[in-house]
Amino acid sequence: MPTILVTGGAGFIGSYLCDRFLAEGFEVICMDNLLTGDVENISHIINNKFSFINYDVTNYVYIKGKLDYILHFASPASPLDYMEYPIQTLKVGSLGTHKTLGLAKEKGARFLLASTSEVYGDPLVHPQNEDYWGNVNPVGPRGVYDEAKRFAEALTMAYHRYHKVDTRIIRIFNTYGPRMRIKDGRAIPNFITQALLDEDITVYGDGMQTRSFCYIKDMVEGIYRLLLSDYNLPVNIGNPSEMTVKGLAEEIIRLTGSKSKITNLPLPEDDPKVRQPDISRARNILGWQPRVELGEGLEKTIGYFKAKLGAPK
Ligand code: UDP
Repeated sequence: MPTILVTGGAGFIGSYLCDRFLAEGFEVICMDNLLTGDVENISHIINNKFSFINYDVTNYVYIKGKLDYILHFASPASPLDYMEYPIQTLKVGSLGTHKTLGLAKEKGARFLLASTSEVYGDPLVHPQNEDYWGNVNPVGPRGVYDEAKRFAEALTMAYHRYHKVDTRIIRIFNTYGPRMRIKDGRAIPNFITQALLDEDITVYGDGMQTRSFCYIKDMVEGIYRLLLSDYNLPVNIGNPSEMTVKGLAEEIIRLTGSKSKITNLPLPEDDPKVRQPDISRARNILGWQPRVELGEGLEKTIGYFKAKLGAPK
């Protein structure tokens, strides 16, 4: 059976990847330094094909034995996190990608990089397709994440072209679901927590900026299909159903039956005004498209947060 290394395997998306590949019969090595990951995300796994290594992937990585696949998912991913850990964010995207690509070369493993819609920055093309090069402020607060991921993509392509490493690049758009942290800082966990506690819903700016939210189950399926494909250039995976942040807040108030009111706080610097993936490539190459409607995904996520908060409703 194949062996797969998942860096960031105790994180939100990473932990679902551990689950999926174990279910497919893989031997799974989960590596995480728990900066933003949490062992609770993998604590349900009881499987002798699973191992966890508490390790910072920006250092030299040694794995004994064969390795067939590497998924490099380690990174702070919430704007709140990468502003709190700017250097770690830059290091895991640059040094961490270098170390894991080196490991892939050594082991002859297929490598998949978790990149991001943030490579498009505050986009001037809408929706964003993979041929758009982006509009990123390198010295702004989000630059630490955006540029680390852009560098990671360049390094991945260089290892592919020069060292012939078999690589994949996924550009992940906003993703949500159970196992996001209460204090994650991103819109969906913030709004759900605030709604369940009947606190004010903190919409940044006028809330007319847009995002497109993909449920975790769809995301994992997209990642799985891309890994098993033979396509080396970047592929957007996300849900093209676009909405305003204000609209999202209203939907969460409705679904939770909350008494919360919306309050407007200042828009963070360089906050992208629009974001919607063009998923034509994923449709054509992977036969993939999202299946879970926002309402259904939010219901599941709200259920998780209720349990976490011990909320009365
Ligand atoms: N946002 C908001 N209130 C919050 C958290 C986020 O209005 O409490 C906004 C944020 O400014 C952005 C959008 O929601 O316009 C999505 O933010 P998130 O942090 O989820 O991810 P991003 O897409 O910015 O990486």
